[in-house]
Amino acid sequence: MASTKRIPMIAGNWKMHLNSKEAADLAAAIRKGLDADLKHEVLLAPTFTSLHAVKAALAGSKIILSSQDIAWEEKGAFTGAVAPSQLIDAGCTAAIIGHSERRKVFLETDEMINKKLKAAIKAGLVPVLCIGETLEERESQRTYRVLETQLIGAFSGITAAEAVKVVIAYEPVWAIGTGKTATPDQAQDAHVFVRRQMERVYNKAYADAVRVLYGGSVKADNVDELMSQPDIDGALVGGESLKADKFLRVIHFQTVLTR
Ligand code: PEP
Repeated sequence: MASTKRIPMIAGNWKMHLNSKEAADLAAAIRKGLDADLKHEVLLAPTFTSLHAVKAALAGSKIILSSQDIAWEEKGAFTGAVAPSQLIDAGCTAAIIGHSERRKVFLETDEMINKKLKAAIKAGLVPVLCIGETLEERESQRTYRVLETQLIGAFSGITAAEAVKVVIAYEPVWAIGTGKTATPDQAQDAHVFVRRQMERVYNKAYADAVRVLYGGSVKADNVDELMSQPDIDGALVGGESLKADKFLRVIHFQTVLTR
C-alpha cells in the first residue's frame, strides 16, 4: 500500500453535471456517510455555479472544495474565466488543472497549464495537476515521453518549495469515462515513472513526498486493488463520484495484499 507518509486523497470531479441543489444534496450525503475517524483527504470539485451551494453544504467539515479549472490572470478582460481570488471567494482551497478534457476540448497547452499552476500556487490553492497519455500514444509506446513532456512543461519555472502542495493525478485518457481502467500494474508503473521524473525535476525528497493520484474509471469495485499499489496515493474519480453510495465506498477503500 501507499507510503503512510503520504496522506491519501480521494477526489470527485463532477464535471458539467448537477444543478446547485443536486450538488449540495450530493455533498451533504457524502459528508454524512464519512467515517468519523477517516484519516485521509476527500475533495469535491463541482461546477463553478454550484460552488457556493456546496460550500454551504460542507461548512464545518474537512472536505476540500475545489474548482475544476482556474484562470492564470487575476482580473481583466477574460470572458468566461474565473480568477484564483474568485475561487477563494467562492470557498475553494484547491483547483484541478490540466484535466484531459480541458486539454482536448478546450485546447489547453502545457504552457497554459504551467501558467495556471503558477497562478494556483501564488494564490495558495492546492493544485491537482492532471497528466496522461491517449490510447494512440500508449499504443505507439510514447506514454512515458508524453508524461515527461507534460510534467516538465507544467513545472517549468516553479521551485520545489513552491510546488510543495501540488498533487499530481495520472489519468490515462483512454481510461477516462470509458469504463476501461488501467490495470493496477499499469497504473503502478506509470506512477513510479512520474515519481522518477519528479526526482529529476526537483529531488528525491520531493518525489517521495508528492502525492500521485490515479484517475480513469475508478469504481467501488476496483478501488481496493488500485489503492493497494505502493505508489498510488489516491484517486481522481469522475462518474462514480456522482453516486453517493458508490463514491463513499471508493472513499473508504480497503487495501488488499496484491503481492
Ligand atoms: C475524471 O473525470 O477525471 C475521471 C477519471 O472520470 P471517470 O472516473 O469517469 O473515468
